[in-house]
Formats: sequence, structure tokens, C-alpha cells
Amino acid sequence: SRAKWVVGNWKMHGSLADNAGLLESIAAAPASGARIGVCVPFPYLVQARDVLLSSSVAWGVQDLSMYPKGAYTGEVSAQMAVEFGATLAIVGHSERRTYHREADDVVAQKTLRALEAAITPIVCVGETLEEREAGSTEQVVGRQLDAVLAVLDAQQAERILVAYEPVWAIGTGKSASAAEAQAVHAFLRERLRAKSAALDAVTILYGGSVKPGNATELFGMPDIDGGLIGGASLVADDFLAICRAA
Ligand code: 13P
Repeated sequence: SRAKWVVGNWKMHGSLADNAGLLESIAAAPASGARIGVCVPFPYLVQARDVLLSSSVAWGVQDLSMYPKGAYTGEVSAQMAVEFGATLAIVGHSERRTYHREADDVVAQKTLRALEAAITPIVCVGETLEEREAGSTEQVVGRQLDAVLAVLDAQQAERILVAYEPVWAIGTGKSASAAEAQAVHAFLRERLRAKSAALDAVTILYGGSVKPGNATELFGMPDIDGGLIGGASLVADDFLAICRAA
């Protein structure tokens, strides 16, 4: 069966003082059925490692350079993240695609860099409200997923996680309904399977306004294997309740 995951995406939030309590609470949580991870801003990788090292919680980054190394001012490589124990990397988050103009081929290269460094990439796909209303959700998420699968060999493709994050549900308090999310997850599952039967085992997370109050219903759907959590991952009680729901 597929691995279940609940991963917090802190985005550009936190401080050394605020993170300490949050990380300690997460580290102390009793193991549940799902694997748990947090993707923190780069400067907090050391802090995450120090607190989480003796726990079963994984940590990682929210982005990576598409290049292995070189004259790329401001960029951070996958290999650097590995030095701090990162085992997860979000790639292609809609906030990167929108505010930093990351195109599908850039996301594909970032996915490759993560895999080469033995980091598990969480490949984000999702449509805008405009695209949904135009009826092009499947076309958009299919294109985003295919661009990544196109550069991976069969073994690499088995090591990715996919996150479906409808842009209109991110940070809006308006989650996709369980049925709406399940429909897109089933589509993505089929798309993976079309590439190779082995990709049936790829974990597909849902992200977008997941809260303790809707997590159980979302995670109860057959093709939703956990969540990528923004706002609620900054509140220990909420994040842990969501982890228990998976
Ligand atoms: P929210 O949970 O704040 O809607 O954010 C979702 C997200 O973008 C996770 O990557």
C-alpha cells in the first residue's frame, strides 16, 4: 500500500524563538500511521535538524536550485540541503510558479536535482480558479505532471511524491471538497499509471486549506494519501490533529 504523509510547508514564517516550541511539539508527537515532515525556510534547517534528529519526523526545504552548483547568486543547491539532513524538498509550489515565474521545465530540473541528491521531491501541481472555471483543470495538472515525468527514468519516478494543490484553495480557507479533490487525484493516479504500473504506489497529497475539521474527510478518500499543510502547520495542535487524521 502507499505511504501516507503529512508535510508542513511553513512558507516564509517563523523565527528561532517561535520555531523552538513548534518543532519540540512535533518531535514529541506519538507515531501514527502517517509519516510526518516539515519544510522550513533555509536558515532554519540547522534548528530543524537539531530538534528533529532523534525523532521520526523528517525535515526539508521549500525549493531548490535547478542547478547542481555554480555562479547562481542567492540559490541553494540540493547538495547543500542534504548537508543539513534534508530528506524532503517541495518543488513547483504554485507560489514559486506564480511569483517567481517557474515554468514546467524548471520544476522538472529541480525534481531531478532533488532525486540526484537522494532528497524526496514533493512535486506540486494545481489549477487556478480561472482554469477550473474554464474546464481545464485536468489539462493543466496533466501538463504539469507530464513535464516532470518526461525527464525521469522509471526508478526515479517511483521516488517522487505528488501534491495536488488547487491554487484557489491555498490560504483562502476554502478547501476543495473531498469529492472535488478525489476526482483530480484519481486523474493524476491514472496519469501516473499510464506511464508505468509501478507508479500506482506514488503518494499523492492534497494541499489547500487543510484544517483539523476537514482533514478526516479529505484523507478518507481512496486516492488522497495525506496532505501538504500551510497555515495549519504553524499551530502545533492543529498540525498534530491533521497528522492523526491521516
Ligand atoms: P494552506 O494550508 O495555508 O492553504 O496552504 C497550502 C499550501 O500551499 C501548502 O503548500
